[in-house]
Amino acid sequence: MNLAEAAEELVRLGTDFHRRGWMLGTSGNLSIVLSRNPLRVAITASSIDKGRMHPGQILEVDAQGKAVQGAEGRPSAETLLHLEVIRSAGAEAVMHTHSVWGTILSDYHRSRGGLAIEGYEMLKGLEGIQTHEHREWIPVMENRQDMAALAAEARSIFAKQPQIHGLLVRRHGMYTWGKDLQTAARHVEILEFLMEAVGRRQLMEPT
Ligand SMILES: [Zn+2]
Repeated sequence: MNLAEAAEELVRLGTDFHRRGWMLGTSGNLSIVLSRNPLRVAITASSIDKGRMHPGQILEVDAQGKAVQGAEGRPSAETLLHLEVIRSAGAEAVMHTHSVWGTILSDYHRSRGGLAIEGYEMLKGLEGIQTHEHREWIPVMENRQDMAALAAEARSIFAKQPQIHGLLVRRHGMYTWGKDLQTAARHVEILEFLMEAVGRRQLMEPT
């Protein structure tokens, strides 16, 4: 995939995620690997309105997160975390959303270190999961503006828990990824569904 093709795909997804309330305003960002050697990644530029995205707002960055070509604007500060997920999880695409449920649940479950989701049929939409009896653990990291420190924390989480499909940042949002763009986008749908289901269910019987 070249930058122009990637830009078209990321704009299509970003517009869809905005419509569904997962990337409102300028929140969230999306990336896809263009090449591995050398590493080149297409990613949404910083501070762009996700309801009015266009392909000219997608940048190509290198392994350090420096813009190589494309787009007006600069790479998002969160580019470093995308690059970490690409390296540590072997991901080909990374999606970062700021949904209401991700924001609330990451706050509520931070003291436990993460959120466990089990017993839901929709879990089978996660790559490699065959049964609703699966227990999915989504670690929650503390939010901070030091993205290098956040990336280092993510790296240590992947080293200990390579089987995870998502990461939450407290009162901020979610990162998920996949072996290709379709898988990563599906993981957004599945995890956002599950977080909303778990959150709404908990409202019925607060514990
Ligand atoms: Zn964010």
